[in-house]
Amino acid sequence: ESDINIVKNSIESYPDFPKPGVLFRDIFSLMKNPKALEALNKLILEEVENMVPKPDVIIGLESRGFLFGPLISLQTRIPFVPIRKKGKLPGQVNKQTYELEYGTDTVEIQSDAIQQGQNILIVDDLLATGGTLQAACKLVSQLGAHVKKCIVVMELLDLNGRRSVDAPIHSIVQY
Ligand code: 5GP
Repeated sequence: ESDINIVKNSIESYPDFPKPGVLFRDIFSLMKNPKALEALNKLILEEVENMVPKPDVIIGLESRGFLFGPLISLQTRIPFVPIRKKGKLPGQVNKQTYELEYGTDTVEIQSDAIQQGQNILIVDDLLATGGTLQAACKLVSQLGAHVKKCIVVMELLDLNGRRSVDAPIHSIVQY
């Protein structure tokens, strides 16, 4: 069985969660299967190791980007930096507000976490509309750095989220 199939088969789907009409893809079902986590780790690591130049910083998006960012950081010795929902990061922060289906949300990064001109890799668990990832890309460019690649574990193809994101996206499994 290929690594991609091991990953895909270990992700469980839940209809009507967290609300009616949504088919929720549960990344934590993969985390409880070490063989699947190992396969996923290998696939992400390969993708990062093929990047030229090597990224200066790995950014993980709250909250499930925090599962994979530090894992890759540890193996590549590339620093890990979080982007979080508003009000959670101490010190001076940069903010970016983005549209949700109903209302808006705001994400933040610590202003001294990345430097002008740095090459950035962003990781998250899932790409849906792309709103979250695009807000993260804007935060990075606010600070004068460049998003060289985004890696997501899952991509929902129907929503065509990559159309809304100004950076190359690699997804491990697609639905
Ligand atoms: P977007 O901004 O692309 O519409 O939504 C992506 C964000 O919503 C990601 O940060 C992701 O964690 C979360 N998300 C949306 N749908 C799902 C889902 O079915 N499963 C998981 N694990 N996360 C989801």
